[in-house]
Amino acid sequence: MSRVSPFGTSPLTFTMLYIVATPIGNLKDCTHRAIEVLKSVDLIACEDTRHTKILLGHYEIKTPTTSFFQHNRFTKGEYLLGLLKAGKNIALVSDAGTPGILDPGYNLINLAIKNNLEMTFIPGATAFVNALVLSGKPAHEFYFGGFLPNRTGARRNQLEKLQKLGCTLVLYESCHRILASLEDIGLVFGDKEITVARELTKKFEEILRANPKIIQEKLSANKPRGEFVIVI
Ligand code: SAM
Repeated sequence: MSRVSPFGTSPLTFTMLYIVATPIGNLKDCTHRAIEVLKSVDLIACEDTRHTKILLGHYEIKTPTTSFFQHNRFTKGEYLLGLLKAGKNIALVSDAGTPGILDPGYNLINLAIKNNLEMTFIPGATAFVNALVLSGKPAHEFYFGGFLPNRTGARRNQLEKLQKLGCTLVLYESCHRILASLEDIGLVFGDKEITVARELTKKFEEILRANPKIIQEKLSANKPRGEFVIVI
């Protein structure tokens, strides 16, 4: 179904699901449209309401919130679907960045599509885009691989498969597993220069460009903290 821009004279011209990207760290990275939509909808479905309330407080947004996360995604999804069908406007946000990119947002988006509900996306931050751009590696063709498997054997297998793709690879990683993942990346990719982006848009943003071993040594100096994106 085609439709005109959802934003005419008033912020919410259509009843629909508004998928809203929020900052990945720096609260100032929230678009005017995102603020306008979050202020205007009937309800904000958040991955973690406590987390989102920091952003809402910063922009004096008083809209009610409800949780929509991994463990209530089916029951809460049906509930939110009911509200959308009853004509309520709902905004979907994740803890950080773009809903649907490795968070339960995907489930609600899919449910809304299956039920022929209208939706639109208010764009904003996505961690892997910042890292890819800052890596300076070819971005005309890249593969976003999300998180690597937890276990070493599976992780190495996955890395070997990814190596065969022959394009830039982008991976997410947590502070708990970054050293183990770098170890395995070193084993599979050897001396190749990679980029590790830490705490993007935040006070301690750090971009490391070197081979996996050197980055691993640097990060081992202190217990690694924060969130990471790896670009190979
Ligand atoms: N929806 C998010 C997005 O749009 O990027 C991703 C959610 S995923 C559950 C969380 C992972 O994203 C983190 O473990 C980390 O790898 C990456 N990430 C999120 N924020 C980041 C940041 N500020 N700096 C570096 N990596 C970040």
